[in-house]
Amino acid sequence: MTELSHNMSDLDAVKADKAGIYLGNIFTVETDLQLPAEGKYGSGISWESKYLNAISNEGKVTRPEAGKGNAIVTLVAVVTKGQYTEKREFEVTVLEKESLRTITAVKEYNIQCGMGYIPRLPKVAIVVKDDGTSGIAEVEWEAINESCCQKPGLIKVFGTVSGTGLKAAANVKVVSEETEADPEAGSIPYKRAAEPFELSNVTIEDKVFSAGRDRDYQYLLSVNDDQLLYNFREASGLDTKNAPTAEGWDAPDCNLRGHTTGHYLSAIAQAYAGSQDEKFKKKIDYMISELGKCQAAMAASGKFSPGFLSGYSEEQFDKLEELTTYPQIWAPYYTLHKIMAGLVDCYVHARNKQALDICTKLGHWVYNRLNRLTEEKRAKMWALYIAGEFGGINGVMARLYGLTGNQEFLKAAEFFDNDKLYVPMAENIDTLGGIHSNQHIPQVVGVMEMFLQNKKPYYYKVAKNFWDMVVSSHTYNIGGNGEGEMFRAAGRIARYIGDKTAETCSTYNMLKLTRDLFFHSPEPRYMDYYERALYNHIIASQDQSAPNGGSTYFMPLCPGSRKEFDTDGNTCCHGTGMENHTKYQDSIYFHSADKSALYVNLYMASTLVWKEKGFKITQTGDYLTDQAIKILIDGSGKLDIKLRVPYWIEKGFTVKINGTVQNIAAQVGSYVTLSREWNRGDQLEISTPFTFRAERTPDDQSVASIMYGPLVMVGISEVDKYIELTLDSEDISKSFIPAGDPLNFITGGLFMVPNFSAYNVAYHAYFKIKYAGD
Ligand SMILES: [Zn+2]
Repeated sequence: MTELSHNMSDLDAVKADKAGIYLGNIFTVETDLQLPAEGKYGSGISWESKYLNAISNEGKVTRPEAGKGNAIVTLVAVVTKGQYTEKREFEVTVLEKESLRTITAVKEYNIQCGMGYIPRLPKVAIVVKDDGTSGIAEVEWEAINESCCQKPGLIKVFGTVSGTGLKAAANVKVVSEETEADPEAGSIPYKRAAEPFELSNVTIEDKVFSAGRDRDYQYLLSVNDDQLLYNFREASGLDTKNAPTAEGWDAPDCNLRGHTTGHYLSAIAQAYAGSQDEKFKKKIDYMISELGKCQAAMAASGKFSPGFLSGYSEEQFDKLEELTTYPQIWAPYYTLHKIMAGLVDCYVHARNKQALDICTKLGHWVYNRLNRLTEEKRAKMWALYIAGEFGGINGVMARLYGLTGNQEFLKAAEFFDNDKLYVPMAENIDTLGGIHSNQHIPQVVGVMEMFLQNKKPYYYKVAKNFWDMVVSSHTYNIGGNGEGEMFRAAGRIARYIGDKTAETCSTYNMLKLTRDLFFHSPEPRYMDYYERALYNHIIASQDQSAPNGGSTYFMPLCPGSRKEFDTDGNTCCHGTGMENHTKYQDSIYFHSADKSALYVNLYMASTLVWKEKGFKITQTGDYLTDQAIKILIDGSGKLDIKLRVPYWIEKGFTVKINGTVQNIAAQVGSYVTLSREWNRGDQLEISTPFTFRAERTPDDQSVASIMYGPLVMVGISEVDKYIELTLDSEDISKSFIPAGDPLNFITGGLFMVPNFSAYNVAYHAYFKIKYAGD
């Protein structure tokens, strides 16, 4: 049918069309699917649904009633050309309807407002539902009379919760200008107390992490740059240089195309910083100069507004403003965020000035595009599930402000303010149950980027409270969160152990948020979480069979799960997956803002070169095997070295300096500070014996995971029911018998390995636990 198919046999066409089918995001389906009837190489495609109650053969979706659970539907594509037919199956998750719970109470707001101003009232009310959970509902406020706020005092504003007769109320305290606008302002850590080192200052030598990094490097060097430029050149009318097109979420007919290119830019920028390998620099310079040509061609064509750059036209942005839903459009600001973040990373990590120039032009485009819309219109856009998803574009606009000083960019960051998430977070009320995890975490990463620039306490409170809620009430043993991409009710972990748990992007973003919070408030618990998620989710998310760029989307945690790796589907997790393994070193060391102290957050063979202070710090040894690490100090002078005492320490944390045991009162979950004049050749020996622990889930005390030091241990078994482990009631370590490799054990006949080792086998991440004699 097309010229592409001239030289192709029918069988090859069927195979190519089968591989080329993409249905968009099939993990959280709410609206009808667009099932293609033919492939681009001329095959006919027919569809058969194995569960017609949820999806018809034509793709019409009927969501299960609330409380019935999501419907898992197998869709079979039958691809035919000539005498050849092949089938491909898709597993689609249709989300159950949201429960229509009765609202039993509406929280009153307490708001301060400067005299002479009109208070900005939240667009949502925080409500309590009849099952005791909290949620949000739209609210319509009565108009506020301008004369009300002309003198100090209290006024009460009423509103109505949409669709109900319930009243909402806000107590507005009008304060004179001298008064602090926020009573909690004094407790906010406005300034960063700690700072990261540049990626190029730290090199990893640890065998597990360096192997993962090198696999990613090899993959990135194998990527065809012209393939990742294809959509941009096509959209801007430039020659596509006969490059092959990408598959899946980056295919030329996919509405998300271009996002992989953005992640790729971030990945190669970080890889260059970490390796100083000129091959990466060459790639960066080529990609940026070619993207610059695309941006210039778009502007010159007169068909695009100045500054625009994407793998498609501006149509998706037009349609978003008309409130068009997915799958007609797919998250145009999300894709733009990936592109802009990639450009900023190429500037920050590889000093490519043109990247900043291209991004600055795009920043103006974003500002101009959104500045002409009302706040109400923008709020409606961001409320559109999937279509309105904007990733962390608020954060990249704030970063751009930090780099350029242009106020418009900081203002544009605030155009993305999302009351539905931020308002309950600022009030410290957990309304996360039922909302999409990775749609929202990047917004909060953006909120911290904004706080760094605008110093508004509101943003810090949003980010801090959000992190606390996610980590304490929504996180699995590996540090991941979300089931079927959604946050579930607070504290419900065991109930939602499934095969679609812990989307990898969510953890990628939580790590960013964790770092940013630590910089403002250097509390050990942030790095405890960082370690958990890095050692158990991120390194476990890579396909270790080959340097093929494969990464997990979900990390299944139910009994007998297997990891599946996306190599060419170009999902979001493939994008963040390219980045993850190029920056393992980003949080091993931080320094205090005044440079008087060095934080050693993670134990991992690595070298830090801190030129400014004249120190080279080297961690040597195989930490995970030895449960100990040596730190060599090259340099001299005064320095406080802060060693993290992990949360899981049970059998002591000992530190020797030049062979002498130090008398330190190491508190679990703290930093021990070694404050002294250091001399070249000083040596620290840190011992952190691992112990076995059973970590129970909060909602089912019989379900637990087995931890060994920082590691989640999984049992290798294809059995698809929970395995019962009977543990020694005095000392559970006695239940685990060493089995060859220092990190392998046997218990009750079950072979146990760290989660990151179980990349090609069926495993159990949670168990039913009993104690001998119980
Ligand atoms: Zn993802």
